[in-house]
Formats: sequence, structure tokens, C-alpha cells
Amino acid sequence: MSDDRKPLTKLVQAGRKPEWTGMPAQPGGIVSPPVWRASTILYDDVAHLRKAAGSSTHERLFYGRKGTPTAWSLADALTEMEPGAEGTMLFPSGVAAIACALMAALKPGDRLLMPDSTYDPTRNFCDQMLNSYGVETIYYDPCDAVRVAVRLGDEKVRAIFLESPGSLTFEVQDIPAITAIARERGIVTLLDNTWATPLFFPAMAHGVDITILACTKYIVGHSDVMMGSVTANADWFAKVRQAAYLFGQMTSPDDAWLASRGLRTLGVRLRQHQDGALAVAHWLKDQPGVARVLHPALPDCPGHELWQRDFSGSTGLFSFVLDGGDEAARAALIDGLAHFGIGYSWGGFESLALPVDPARHRTATRWEVEGPMVRLHIGLEDPDDLIADLDAGLTRFRAAR
Ligand SMILES: *Cc1c(COP(=O)(O)O)cnc(C)c1O
Repeated sequence: MSDDRKPLTKLVQAGRKPEWTGMPAQPGGIVSPPVWRASTILYDDVAHLRKAAGSSTHERLFYGRKGTPTAWSLADALTEMEPGAEGTMLFPSGVAAIACALMAALKPGDRLLMPDSTYDPTRNFCDQMLNSYGVETIYYDPCDAVRVAVRLGDEKVRAIFLESPGSLTFEVQDIPAITAIARERGIVTLLDNTWATPLFFPAMAHGVDITILACTKYIVGHSDVMMGSVTANADWFAKVRQAAYLFGQMTSPDDAWLASRGLRTLGVRLRQHQDGALAVAHWLKDQPGVARVLHPALPDCPGHELWQRDFSGSTGLFSFVLDGGDEAARAALIDGLAHFGIGYSWGGFESLALPVDPARHRTATRWEVEGPMVRLHIGLEDPDDLIADLDAGLTRFRAAR
């Protein structure tokens, strides 16, 4: 298969190897690899058992923990979607993927640079687990690539984590600038690419070594499966794979099958999330009671020009800042919404609204804005219905403010 296929074509074809979709005696086969459930794999005799144990078990039937074709198909598809990647390991959640990637990249005595805008559970893993294994985390301003470069002069810094746009606040980072300096100094770079996915930001083409997805969000796309992935280049894949094996990480074949099903429609779903979110965001920024909209495709968002330069699209998640008001006024807005669920996570087909308070999680920077914040995930509904719903919500907010 040629490598010049466009991403949307790859989404449809990736991971569908004939040996996983057909039977030896039957040419052709089914469209999607089926669910292979297994713990024990049986061998013909002791010699075959010994031979299997003594060779590479990667993407070979060996024992259930090493996966079956259902998971390998998804892993291969994610690798194909990321030009420059060597391989992908799957995890039972996005947080498990982040944790294992960091453990693979770091050892006691090392320092890790982490953006102050990072996903809160990533911060907790660094402060409460890496910390106790002798890895120090230094938080940095996600908007200040120059300061990051200076920090890279510190010989103990062995890894730099990136998350772009940042969780809750959506700062877009100068990833090519940071990865170029990191590479010069032999420092590994890891990116949480959950928001853009490789479809809108091919991470390795921008110099990233290890890229992580909370597949729970857009890859699965239907709010019914938890999963994470770590995709690495040739320098790092063996280390990531070994760490995943040592930690006994794997995913259930049923979940892998659902995620593969989600992946096939990622292209059309993201386009609709993008269009809906842009319609809502542009409308919101002109409304009384809204101080700012933090959406990478809008000029108010820190790093907007980097998004324009580096990304080929935007997705359904963004925040807005209310102009004054308190917790109760914000709750008045959110509580009465008819088309938005109130809950964690995002990336499913349905819209969500969440009160967020980024200032609480900051240690290297200060987050000071005009009022309380709301994070929206724009689902696949008609944006006109969502706008009407938010319009009524903002009326409630202004009355309560
Ligand atoms: C949700 C999320 C994660 C974690 O994924 P889970 O599957 O919920 O563990 C990681 N990073 C980002 C940016 C997320 O939004």
C-alpha cells in the first residue's frame, strides 16, 4: 500500500490486514477485524510453546495480556495515522497512557518540564507518583517557548511534555520551536494530542517523539469506552512497549473493537464538531455577559497564530469567560441548559457544559480573568439549537449576576 494516501483514506483502510479479517481458505473476508477474546493461547506441543516464549511476542498470539488481533488492528491504525511513527501501545485510559509514557521516558534524578496548563490528572501523576520516584517536575508557561529553551540548558532535564491546546484554557504552544531545541540536546518530547488528534495535528511531522491520545474522547467518539494510546517513533517505541508490558497494560478486545469502529468515522465527526463549535464560538464572542472566548481558531486565544500556522483544523472543545458574576450566576447559566449535559470527559456525539476553574491548578503562572469560566463540548447537534439554548442561559446569567 503506498504511503501517499490522504489521512481520510487511511482512516478507512488502516489496520485491516487480510490475516485479521479473512480465513486462509477464503479469499476476501469480512470488513472489520472481529473481537478475539482470549486469555490462554493453546500450542500444538511443548516445542511450539517454547519457541513462542523465546521470540518477540509483539503482535503475535502468545497470551491474552499481549493482546489479540482486535487490539493490534487498532494500534496499527493509529500508527498509520501518525506519519513518522514506529508503533502504538494501547492503555485502559488516557491517564494510564500518559503515566506509562512518562515512566518509559524518565528515571530517578531526571527533571521533567510540564506546561502549567496541563490536564490536571497529568499534574497529579507528576506530583504524587513521579515525585516519589525521584523525578522532579518543573512547570512552565505554555506560551513562553523562549523560557523553555533556557530551561533545556539544565542537564538534568531529560523530557519535555507538551499539551496543545492546554486543558481548560486552550493556549496553543510553539511545538516546532520546542521540539527543535529538545532534539538538538537529546531531550525526549511527549505530546498530549487528544484535542487535535493526528488528523488536525500530525505530531511527529512537527518533531514530537512520543504522542499520546485519550482515545476515550474523539477516537471512541461515543462516550462509552475508556482508552488511551501512546504512539512513538523508532527511537522510543521499544522503550514504550517494554514499559507497557512491564506494567501489564492492555485493553479489552471489546473496547478495542468499539474504538476501531469509532476511528472509521473520525473524519466526518471532527468536521461536524469543528463547524458546530466555530458557529457557537463566533456567536458567543459577541454576546453581552461574555468577556472572552478561548478557542484556538479565534484571535482572543493565546497562541491563535500558532494554531493558524501548525494545525489543519479545530475540534469541538473550547471555553468562554463570563464578564463578572459568581458561582451562582454561572450555575444559573449551566443548570437550565436543555441540550448540554453536565459532566466530565468530552469527544462524544453529544454536547456538554462544565464549570471550570483553572486558577486552582496553576503553580508557574497566574490565571486571572474577568469572571467564572464555562467549558463547552459541541456535539453533533444542530448548532442553531445549541445557540438558542446558550442564549437563554446567558439571559439567566445576566439576571443572576
Ligand atoms: C480526558 C483527557 C485525558 C485522560 O483521558 P482518560 O481516558 O479520561 O483517562 C488526558 N488528556 C486530556 C487532554 C484529556 O482531556
